Amino acid sequence: MSYVGRFAPSPSGDLHFGSLVAAVASYLQAKTLNGKWLVRIEDIDPPREVPGSAVAILSELKRLGMKPDGDVLFQSSRLDSYRRAWETLLNAGQAFFCGCSRSMLPKDGIHRGHCRDGSDPCPSVKRVRFLVDNRTIRFKDRIMGRFEQVLSTQVGDFVIRRPEGWPAYHLAVVIDDAYQEITEIVRGSDLLDSTPRQLALQRALGLPQPEYCHLPIAVGPDGSKLSKRERSDPVSALPAAGAIWEALDFLGQCPPEQLPLEQLWSWAIDHWDISRIPQRATLPAIHIP
Ligand code: GLU
Repeated sequence: MSYVGRFAPSPSGDLHFGSLVAAVASYLQAKTLNGKWLVRIEDIDPPREVPGSAVAILSELKRLGMKPDGDVLFQSSRLDSYRRAWETLLNAGQAFFCGCSRSMLPKDGIHRGHCRDGSDPCPSVKRVRFLVDNRTIRFKDRIMGRFEQVLSTQVGDFVIRRPEGWPAYHLAVVIDDAYQEITEIVRGSDLLDSTPRQLALQRALGLPQPEYCHLPIAVGPDGSKLSKRERSDPVSALPAAGAIWEALDFLGQCPPEQLPLEQLWSWAIDHWDISRIPQRATLPAIHIP
């Protein structure tokens, strides 16, 4: 089976260093394995969407020399597929309507199925939850190693359709990874503990399970979110070769300095080594002046 990778940004702002790292790593994995690299805009959360940011992200990828091998997929064009999926799960008894407000959930926010039986106090609310079981879900991440989670105790029945009718991220992501025939997912490790939810949905919907590679997340020296001087500026403020150099450096690839963009990319494709990526959930993004 040939390799298909993807970069799937949400249009909630400019391309920042954290997403650049995911873009560069997913691109290099695909290029060095003679595969395809696809781009998907995850625009299914209108309140968080920043107008113009999808276009800005796509033009930034172009400026940085990363060209997708196919049309960009916008999730907002795929709403029928997500609806069909939650209907399938509802019909199979693997999902249920839930009108519980946040304040009705226990303090830890874990929904332990208390309205699974249809005793929903507010049936007009169209939130749909996936019904989880108490099996341990295990997988081996290519970077972070073994990971396991018991959804019933650690996550609870999770939302797959939000009350206002939009699909939740977990549902849309598994439907589209299957639709685009993605064989490996390279993304930030902030999504590592979301992966078991996605594996459970893949199993319930009979979708193939891709491989996973979770990258370290760029943080400030104290482990906090990046501040301005630590690479939190939009990547568009940096020269293209400088931005790619910083991403390669962060990914442990030891790139040579001062190469122009095209040569830096050919160096990166020739030397890409996933085993050099630090196996850490977070990693300080040291500012290089
Ligand atoms: N859209 C998500 C984000 O921008 C990434 C989703 C994924 O890679 O699975 O954080």
